[in-house]
Amino acid sequence: MPFLKSVLKQYDLVADKLKLDDRIRERLLYPKRSLIVSIPIEMDTGKMKVYEGYRVQHDVTLGPSKGGIRYHLNVNLKEVTALAMLMSWKCALMQLPYGGAKGGICCNPAVMSQGEIERLTRRYTTEIIGSIGPEEDIPAPDMNTNMQTMAWMMDTYSMQKGHTVLGVVTGKPLVLGGSLGREDGTGRGVFYMVEESIKVIEKELKGLRVAIQGFGNVGSIAAKLLYENECKVIAVSNSKGGAYNAAGINVKNLIQHAKKNKTVTDFPDVDNITNEDLLTLDCDVLIPAAIEGQITRYNANNIKAKIIVEGANGPTTPEADKILYDRGVLLIPDILANSGGVVISYFEWVQDLQFYFWKESEIQQRLKEIMVNIFNRVLPLSREKKIDIRTAAWMLGISRIAEAQKTRGLYP
Ligand code: GLU
Repeated sequence: MPFLKSVLKQYDLVADKLKLDDRIRERLLYPKRSLIVSIPIEMDTGKMKVYEGYRVQHDVTLGPSKGGIRYHLNVNLKEVTALAMLMSWKCALMQLPYGGAKGGICCNPAVMSQGEIERLTRRYTTEIIGSIGPEEDIPAPDMNTNMQTMAWMMDTYSMQKGHTVLGVVTGKPLVLGGSLGREDGTGRGVFYMVEESIKVIEKELKGLRVAIQGFGNVGSIAAKLLYENECKVIAVSNSKGGAYNAAGINVKNLIQHAKKNKTVTDFPDVDNITNEDLLTLDCDVLIPAAIEGQITRYNANNIKAKIIVEGANGPTTPEADKILYDRGVLLIPDILANSGGVVISYFEWVQDLQFYFWKESEIQQRLKEIMVNIFNRVLPLSREKKIDIRTAAWMLGISRIAEAQKTRGLYP
């Protein structure tokens, strides 16, 4: 099922459960603003190429919209629209004063030079400049974008305004108003959610068998923190394939290997496995941290993990959700499990607006407090209503926006 369709299906299910007011239900179905831009840039060969970029602001009831920018060949308006909706629910669930947005460019950065990526980023920023800003819409990194991408976006925006604007994007380098802890915020949040959820099955970190799909910013940092806390990371993978060792992998060495070779395969003492194999390995915790649509009705029955912590956005389809719930698998949904990134983005934005910066320990402690607190609201709600945790999380997020919309009223 296409990703947007599956997100909208989930929305329907939750709206029914919530008995959401018809007017609000219809308003939240559509994004507030969708922008499609063409991005012509000069390639290193001297030829010109036009890319297509998007920025979708799903909802802005609670505050400026917030969400990442991804560079990937799968990026299209429908994918970005679905991801923008998820950002609205995520920000609302985490009680941030933000709406949800997402952006992206359909491109393959792996075959582009740094110069080409910089020109692409700067021209994209210029094309969407009218709708972003610290009080309007605040981009951040997502798949295949990073601190450098954010530095170019911030510089382009600031040059157009004629002065430095720190709060226009988050996930920036420290020297440009970035926040301590932002780069590993999503992976750290995933780690906190593993720590919290295994209490439910009375397991501890020591010896916990974890499999992680995706070894980018989220997967590799979650893997490193789990490894440092004596978990057995038995498998990891990236788009090129996976590595498996039932006795546990030395994650620190694997990170070096992956940096050098751009793959996690062919590493000493591991067996090469496919991404599909990884999902159904015998383990305690599975962390899908790659892309959407990975756990489906075709493999959900074969998953052996007792807990799934979603590092990626939308890795599980609604059909798979139902199968997993019926089988008693505890699934910590994306909008909670990977919210560490946007929560620290919020801290970064607050620091930028105040020109006053916090200590890393303070940031980590606040992140943990927020995530554990929401976890401990969502889990009892799912038990009380006999629903899966995703539905409970969406219900909390959506009802917060609904209440705000009702109170604000319909303009004019
Ligand atoms: N791209 C991340 C996400 O999907 C972070 C967004 C942000 O920090 O604004 O949540």
